[in-house]
Amino acid sequence: MTTTADILAYDLDRLRRRVLPDTAGEVDDSIPQLADADPDLCGIALVTVNGEVRVSVDADVPFSIQSAVKPFLFALALHDTDRAALGRIGIEPTGEAFDAIKLETGTGRPPNPMVNAGAIVTSSLVEGDGVDGRIARIIAGLSAFAGRTLDIDDDVARSEHLLGDRNHALAHLMRSEGTLNVEADDAIAVYASACAVLVDAEALATMGATLAAGGVNPRSGERVVSRDVARDVISVTATCGVYDGSGRWMREVGVPAKSSVSGAIVLSVPGVLGAAVVSPPLDERGTSVRGHRASDALSADLGLHVFDV
Ligand code: GLU
Repeated sequence: MTTTADILAYDLDRLRRRVLPDTAGEVDDSIPQLADADPDLCGIALVTVNGEVRVSVDADVPFSIQSAVKPFLFALALHDTDRAALGRIGIEPTGEAFDAIKLETGTGRPPNPMVNAGAIVTSSLVEGDGVDGRIARIIAGLSAFAGRTLDIDDDVARSEHLLGDRNHALAHLMRSEGTLNVEADDAIAVYASACAVLVDAEALATMGATLAAGGVNPRSGERVVSRDVARDVISVTATCGVYDGSGRWMREVGVPAKSSVSGAIVLSVPGVLGAAVVSPPLDERGTSVRGHRASDALSADLGLHVFDV
């Protein structure tokens, strides 16, 4: 059984050196800013539910959060609607890619909050007047999860908004089904800004730790969401967070996690810790290659697999 002392003694720079020689994978090129990412970036951070922090080299390098924002958008939507958002989005894994043009059969709702369709809806359900109000609420909410003030990279937000054709298609499809309650372009403006929030591995690990600690940021002490919301979010992250690789991920790594095209992975081990790894080269499912390897090693070395007896 791993103790907090084992976790705190764990050498993240050594882990980084272990995974760094793996140069497999391709950097995402869906927008120019992601295509420009440094393929050698590799940052790892962990934050315990008691607020202890450990970081590797590169854990302070900023990157756009991209889909690692989705668990937190879901959390804010649940919080702001008193969990009524649960009626607006499915919670079943799709077995398909993150941007599949597919809605839940029979309801026309997004299949789950971890694919793009779902995150377009969750980001439209947060409280706030119009596009600017909802973006402001998302920034404030994510900052509370991170325990520090976060900003948007405006160039990334513009590119996401301009170049996200499949996201626009999903928004229009959901409008036609009556399952998206705001204008399609407004929904994409908010979702694009949420994906463009700048974090680093340390901030993202703190966000994961806030979920792992039942909704209280263990560094600031602030309650960000209720315990019920944190549990809902971690449950759906466990089953849907790595898209069509979620089953394999749960068997191998055994830690609820969300991947993203910027190469970030955020992990939450309930009652233990949050962690984040960022390294831009991605495998065919859009998961960071080094991030996956580092998560495997962290889980094995620290005994984090939630189903390990
Ligand atoms: N901004 C990306 C998109 O919506 C996020 C996808 C991801 O990180 O998986 O296309």
